Parts: sequence; structure tokens; C-alpha cells
Amino acid sequence: MRRSLAAEIMSKLVKATDLSAFKRCDRLVYLNHNGDPALRVPSSAYQKWVQDQGIAFEQQVVSTFDIFEPEYPIADFEQGFALTLDYMRQGVAYIFQGVLLVDGLIGLPDLMQRVDDPSNFGSYHYRPVDVKSATKARIGHELQVMFYATLLESIQGVRPEGSLFLRTPSSEAESAGLFTEMPVEYDAEIFDEVLAQVRALAAGEEPPPFYSSTCKGCHWHDVCVPELEASEDVSLLSGIRRSVWQQLRAQGIRTYHDMAKLSPGELVVYKGVGKITAEKMINQAQALSTGQPVVFAPVDLPEPTDLEIFFDVESVPSEDCFYLMGLLVRRGDDLTFEYDLAEHPGEQAAMWEQFLQHIDRIGGWVYHYGVYERTAINCLMSRFGEDPRALDLLDRLVDLQKVINESVTLPLKGYSLKDVAPWLGFEWSGVTQHADDSMLEYFHWLETGDRTHIDNILVYNKDDVEATRVVRDWLLTLSGGEK
Ligand code: SF4
Repeated sequence: MRRSLAAEIMSKLVKATDLSAFKRCDRLVYLNHNGDPALRVPSSAYQKWVQDQGIAFEQQVVSTFDIFEPEYPIADFEQGFALTLDYMRQGVAYIFQGVLLVDGLIGLPDLMQRVDDPSNFGSYHYRPVDVKSATKARIGHELQVMFYATLLESIQGVRPEGSLFLRTPSSEAESAGLFTEMPVEYDAEIFDEVLAQVRALAAGEEPPPFYSSTCKGCHWHDVCVPELEASEDVSLLSGIRRSVWQQLRAQGIRTYHDMAKLSPGELVVYKGVGKITAEKMINQAQALSTGQPVVFAPVDLPEPTDLEIFFDVESVPSEDCFYLMGLLVRRGDDLTFEYDLAEHPGEQAAMWEQFLQHIDRIGGWVYHYGVYERTAINCLMSRFGEDPRALDLLDRLVDLQKVINESVTLPLKGYSLKDVAPWLGFEWSGVTQHADDSMLEYFHWLETGDRTHIDNILVYNKDDVEATRVVRDWLLTLSGGEK
């Protein structure tokens, strides 16, 4: 009960995370404040794990400082603010998650650090620091720090300079320490504009939904996506930019059926739409409108051979950790799943060497889906040294997503393997259904040593390469070949 009261009070106040949410989607701010909480999709296991990791990192960083923390009953932010002001008046060195309440805004910065420079409090003031387990700052993080600086300015009469403490990449942590400080430059123009829009959204100004890649992992997915699909919204066109969608809406072009009737000449008048983009958008609208793919150029694939490989990499991109190189090898009618695995991040060099020997021994075209496999090979080469076997592999790669982009438009709102293969009837069979889940299984394996997690990763990767084969075989039917 107390927790929900805190959430209810918070929903009436504008907070720092509203500004970072706004950078992802304006409607997210509106729904976070005004949506029915019962309709929120619960966090996935991976999202919860990321949150827990973030909290653990924050505690690790904060434990290195001598902090004062206001302790107040849950949801009693007025009392939290009063205690925070007491600490500020006393001039303590660091305040952890102090409460700042000003004019309908609430800020809970991870740290407030005393700085010897005058303010309403005397010879010192406080500056905000936010701790992030990300290794790179995003504009949303910076806006949060600007938000705290704004609140502190109202309270102490001086706008402080703020910082982010970002996690040092694990490869550098030994020499560079746990975190790296990044000062945040206050940009009043951007900040004021974002804050004004956030205030309006929180107060109930409802924007229409816009479909983007953010929707996939969004808590409000089940509210917005059915609405978009029911209204056959033009934002369901894969890759359409928000600014173009806004211009089209303003001209009454709201559905992909409206769009399908246009000519490229009628689209190039919109800012940000060139001739090639216009043709793609119309093809995409026609595919969605008819439910049928539109083949607009010859499907460029190598001739089928008796030996073919389908390839997929599993990794933790934020850690630069590659843990599985999976292959589905087709020799005539025989299909075999083969793989090289780093059971521990320290085994990546050995895995890479085994994989290079493996792939060099097999030979043949190597089909994969998306740019990531090429990126992974280049990344591993830059880490472990250029290798003629890896260079040869790069020449043998065939990116099926690129083949699709250059030849056929699909009646889908996304072109990831998880969009395309299910459309062709393929289903992932295991408990692990997404790359995020695979990463989580790997972390659980490292923590527990339970091989069930490795088995789940292998089933998932086998499904990925199997899905890649299904896409390739379908593309072959379009190119006139068959398998
Ligand atoms: S589902 Fe999409 S449109 Fe709706 S709030 Fe989330 S990101 Fe925005």
C-alpha cells in the first residue's frame, strides 16, 4: 500500500527520469503520468536484471564516499525535503538521494556534493552528481543532471555545475578505476524546451502514438501498438522518421493505405524525403496495405551449393564479450548445429581461435542476418590481431538483411530476424526467446555454474541459425532458385 502511495504521489510530480523518457518518446511521459497502471507490461527478466545491476553499481560507487542520507517515511517527500535542507544548512560533504521539491518538480539526485563557492547557505553550495552504470552518457542522462541543477539553483540561489559518474568499461577498470566523471554542460535552451513539453504531457496533454523500435521493450506496448495497428497508422512503415510522420499527419495522410496511393513525386515535397526514400516508403505502404511482399529488384544471392553455413554470434555488447559463435552447416540434405563457446569471458581468445580453425576447415558461403556478425569479426580481429582466416571469412559473408533491403519490401513493421522469420512461419522453440534473455542466461551461468543456462543459450542460438536458413531459403524462391 505504501509503495503504491509513493508511486501515486510521484505520478503527480515531474521528475528527472521524465526528461530522459521524453527523449525516447513523448507519449511515454504522458502514459507514465496519466495511463492506467493495470495496462503496463511488467518488466522482463532482463529489464529487472539491468535495474538490479544499476542499483548495485550505484551502491558500489556511493560506498566510496562519506555520505549523509535523509531517512523519512515512504512517500513523505515533504519530510525528505526538510531533512535534505537540514543537511544542506549543516554543510555536510555528500548527501545521498536527497529530496529536492520545487514548484511541482521533484529531484532525487544520487549525490549532492558540497562545493566551496558561495550560495544562500553561506560560503558553499551543492552540486548534483548522478551515477549511471552505462559506459557512455546519453542526452537523457545529461538532462537529468540539468534538472537537478535547476532545482538546486532555486533552493540555493546558485546554479551549480553537475556531473555524471559513468561506469568504466571492464577492460579499463583495473587501471582507470570503477567510474569516470563526465561534467555536464548546462544547455538552457534545450532544457527549458524539454521541461515545458514534459510539464504539459504530465498535466494531461495526450500525444498520438508513434511506432518506433522503442515500442518493443516499452511498458505501454500493449496500449499503443494495438491502437496503431487498428488505425493502420502510417508510423507502422518500417524506418519512417518521426518528423516525416508529423508532416504527413498535418496533411491528413494518416494510414498506410493513404500513403500507398501516393506517387514518389507527391512525397518528395516533404522535408527529409528524397526520391529513393519516397519510393521505399510507397513500396512499404503497398506491402502493408496488401499484406503481400513487393519485389522491386532482382534478389542477389550466391548460387545454392551442397555446402552452406548459417552463422550467428551471441555476445554482451556493453562488455565487449563474445561468448558463442553458432553455425548451422548444411551438407547436402544433412543439417548440423556446430558451435564454439567461451564458458568464461576469459576464454574468448581460445574460442576465437577454435572458431577460426572451424570455419576455415568447412569453407563455403556463410549466411547471416544483419550487420552484427561482420562487426563482431572486425571487433575480435582488432582485439586479437588481424588473421587471414578472418579476412577470408569476411569475404564469404552474405548478409540476408542487406539482400532483403535491396530487393524486396515486406508487409511488416520491422525487418529484424525476429520479425521476418516468424512471418515465414518459424518459431523459436526454447525458453530463451530474445538476445537479451540469452545474455541473462550467460550471466546466470557465470553466477551459478548451472549448465541448464548453457543449454538454453545453445537452443536459442540453434534457433537463430535455423531462422536464418528459413529466410535464405525463402529468398531463394524469389530469386528463381530453390533448395
Ligand atoms: S509503446 Fe511506443 S508510442 Fe507507446 S509510449 Fe511506448 S514508446 Fe511511446
